[in-house]
Amino acid sequence: MNSPRQLLKSCFGYDRFRGSQAEVIDHVMSGRHAMVVMPTGMGKSVCYQIPALAMPDDQGDLVLVLSPLIALMHDQVGSLVRRGIDAAYINSSLDRSTRQQRYDDVSKGRYRLLYVTPERFRKADFCDVLAKRNVRLLAIDEAHCVSQWGHDFRPDYSRIQQIRKQLGDPVTIALTATATSECRSDIYRQMGIAPGDIRLFHEGIDRPNLKLDVQPVFDEDEKIDVIAETLADPVYRGGSVIVYFSLIKTLERFSDALMRRGVDHVTYHGDLPRGKRRRIQDEFMTGDADVVLATPAFGMGVDKEDIRMVIHAETPGSIESYYQEIGRAGRDGRPSLCRWLYEQSDLMTQMQFIEWSNPDASFYSRLYTAIGEHPEQCKAFGLQWLNDRLQRVSRHDHRLDTAIAMLDRHGVIAGPREPECFEIQEPLPAYFTDDEALGEKKRRDQQRLYAMVQLAAEEGDRKEFLNRYFMGDSEPIADDE
Ligand code: ADP
Repeated sequence: MNSPRQLLKSCFGYDRFRGSQAEVIDHVMSGRHAMVVMPTGMGKSVCYQIPALAMPDDQGDLVLVLSPLIALMHDQVGSLVRRGIDAAYINSSLDRSTRQQRYDDVSKGRYRLLYVTPERFRKADFCDVLAKRNVRLLAIDEAHCVSQWGHDFRPDYSRIQQIRKQLGDPVTIALTATATSECRSDIYRQMGIAPGDIRLFHEGIDRPNLKLDVQPVFDEDEKIDVIAETLADPVYRGGSVIVYFSLIKTLERFSDALMRRGVDHVTYHGDLPRGKRRRIQDEFMTGDADVVLATPAFGMGVDKEDIRMVIHAETPGSIESYYQEIGRAGRDGRPSLCRWLYEQSDLMTQMQFIEWSNPDASFYSRLYTAIGEHPEQCKAFGLQWLNDRLQRVSRHDHRLDTAIAMLDRHGVIAGPREPECFEIQEPLPAYFTDDEALGEKKRRDQQRLYAMVQLAAEEGDRKEFLNRYFMGDSEPIADDE
């Protein structure tokens, strides 16, 4: 059998492991659980891909990767297949016959690596197929999504303990670039693994080639001046730039203003039609468009090496989002600038977002009742009708979107979109009627925003602040918890 080091060379073409990769691989191959926190771009995937390649050929063993995003798994599987590695994904993007073919292949023992979203475990036929295989290693990518206290909670990830049980408690490796110590403890609990039974490998979060700065500004005109000046900075020219906004309407105003100044750019946000979004992302990836003004919707799956600047024109809602967004800069290791334009009044926008992202128990109960009592009207007049029924305060209030997404993720309704979202499948879980639990989530969101205020006010080294935020008390590099 080839050693991990030989596999790294023969399958990926790399001579040496980075950071704690070799130790992590050794650890999971000896049958022990691992939690891996590594900065984006350092190479987390190798930590479960090499164990998959090292498995014996003939025993039907499988490494199952849970990944939250379809785009992400397409990229990963694409690059594995190009390297001749027997990997595949199964998700809702497949048509019925391709999906069936994959199920058959999995049953017959094909694939070393299989990527799925946690939602796949809702499908009985998938569970039946998987039961025929021995999942030797379960990899949970973007593991912060497991925790309510992570910034991107996915309720299906919270069924992870049940999923692990169903798979026969396989060796598990959880990976993320961002998890505070509180979030890590919650991940262990959700996975049903005692903290003493899982080893933490923490690489710290520093990306030495990123320069972080915060520029206090007082109004929009000043912001536009600073953006234009920053874009002209000779030190960081020659690559791509993302300018992030929280609100589409601010983005559009800035786009007009920058256009008038002759700053060439494209824009990307959730209100653009899907085809146009795809075209813009392609233009950015190929380098045809250097500068994109975008909302946070832009970025998942944007794995471009030469992003020289990430500018935040509006304050992000949490350190986790900020860190993830700036993490897209400088993947090629060259000096890159992360500039955040901090205007205090932006905090109001984020506070409003927190309100909208946290409907209370009465909102959930009114929504559930309205769908249950008026399914025909809902189907005939749609979400807009429902929104008018539930609240008349602001047309921009997106509590209904949040609530529908949450009910879908918890399997209460049949889907996130019309008309399935009007089909009730299960009673409202206790969580949605518990104002204390819902309030706790809101309080955490507020704390995360407050951490951004502290980061702005930090007079010392901001990277040090980020390190403290994510590391808690743990020391960088492999450390037993
Ligand atoms: P992450 O998930 O941590 O963001 P990836 O697993 O996508 O990172 O890896 C980022 C890039 O680094 C990939 O192109 C991968 O092939 C490469 N890489 C991983 N390990 C090594 C290594 N030991 N030496 C050189 N490149 C590596």
